[in-house]
Amino acid sequence: MRRLRNVKIVATLGPASNDYAMIRALFEAGADVFRLNMSHGTHADIAARHAIIRKVEADLDRPIGILADLQGPKLRVGTFANGSEELIEGAKFRMDLSAAPGDVNRVQLPHPEIFAALEPGASLLVNDGKIRLEVVDCGKDYANCTVTVGGTISNRKGVNVPDVVLPLAALSEKDRGDLEFACELGVDWLALSFVQRPEDVIEARGLAKGRAAILSKIEKPAAVKAYDAILQVSDGIMVARGDLGVELPVTSVPPIQKRLVRGARAAAKPVIVATQMLESMIESPVPTRAEVSDVATAIYEGADAVMLSAESAAGKYPIEAVTTMNNVAMSVEKDPTYRQIIDASRVVRRETIADGIVSAAREIAEATNIKAIVCFSQSGSTVNLVSRERPKVPIIALTPLMSTARRSALIWGAHCVITEPQDRFKGAVLAAVKAARDHGFAGEEDMIVLTAGVPFNVKGTTNILRVAPCDERLISRVDPE
Ligand code: PGA
Ligand code: MN
Repeated sequence: MRRLRNVKIVATLGPASNDYAMIRALFEAGADVFRLNMSHGTHADIAARHAIIRKVEADLDRPIGILADLQGPKLRVGTFANGSEELIEGAKFRMDLSAAPGDVNRVQLPHPEIFAALEPGASLLVNDGKIRLEVVDCGKDYANCTVTVGGTISNRKGVNVPDVVLPLAALSEKDRGDLEFACELGVDWLALSFVQRPEDVIEARGLAKGRAAILSKIEKPAAVKAYDAILQVSDGIMVARGDLGVELPVTSVPPIQKRLVRGARAAAKPVIVATQMLESMIESPVPTRAEVSDVATAIYEGADAVMLSAESAAGKYPIEAVTTMNNVAMSVEKDPTYRQIIDASRVVRRETIADGIVSAAREIAEATNIKAIVCFSQSGSTVNLVSRERPKVPIIALTPLMSTARRSALIWGAHCVITEPQDRFKGAVLAAVKAARDHGFAGEEDMIVLTAGVPFNVKGTTNILRVAPCDERLISRVDPE
């Protein structure tokens, strides 16, 4: 099975997408990577979904990426005697450490670290920013606030504190347990929520020990500020527009999205644009014009992937949502303007031999009638470099490692194929030609360009560029053993 687009689709799984038939249908409709949200569901639920995805992968013989999204330090209020209260604009409201049930005057906020970091004038946002409180005075176990935007506050609602860098560990006890569980299960990517500093990413990387790649969700003002440093220590980025639009004015999200996508593309690291992409499809089988335009914008910007959250996890139309993304992608990618924008925003680096080889591979492929760029990759880093070129011709990522193929499922344009480990150049050329032909990218009379590293099976050695005919008899005649 071959996708007829380059941008990838990430679909979040949940109650609406739990069983084999649905997950398989989502993959067939176009989902390349499945996201397991560790904020919801038990470990048993997560393990069951993971097993189903791996079964679909085996049945369809296509590598599938799995991304486990860690909840991170999500702050929540305690509970109310009446379950909920109505906060009126201008009223006083207190948050404190007392576990006593809340009322219209106060509620528990069971996070002493926050009180330590708060200052008068800071905002506390409750329930996705629908309610706003301004801190008037505060101490080590309380904050007296004024309600600046009122609304209904209820049990365990989330709290955002955009104005302060919180002295919170990036990973809670729950996250550490979830991280270990997800790595043991064999997920390919870990997404870190509410990253604030590069150290947060480094800490998670230390715990993952190479078992999964690390994707930083940019959803805090502090993370936007420290973006370059966070990007440098991350394997990928998510523009997490949900919380970003709560912590910062919602109108600042589009410019931030553009900057984050550009930065990640330049660094040859995958970037996902996430949240509310097709929000109305939770309830409706058709998207709004604005949603279609939003998905299209992310694709025109050159994002590696677009993501569905509740649309596929809890909505009424998960398959229609994936199909919509797939169709938008096909429509955008055949637009000549798309090609112009992608070419104009290409980042060319000439720092390493591999940079030079991948850019030459693209130029040769695009200047001639070459059908695909086939890259051998151990770690996946050459796949990322070829993808950074955003070539017109398809990219086939050949690797002997299933883990690399699965991770690369998130990379723009990468069609991942598992191959036998190679130790001879001729064998590698034959494997590349076979992959291009078997997967429908080229015929016997076509040519491909391939990149590889000699010695084989060592990461970071890309040093060969070869234009090869797809006719095995010609290869046998030309290439040395
Ligand atoms: P979430 O992250 O869905 O886990 O909150 C994405 C976002 O905030 O946009
Ligand atoms: Mn979020």
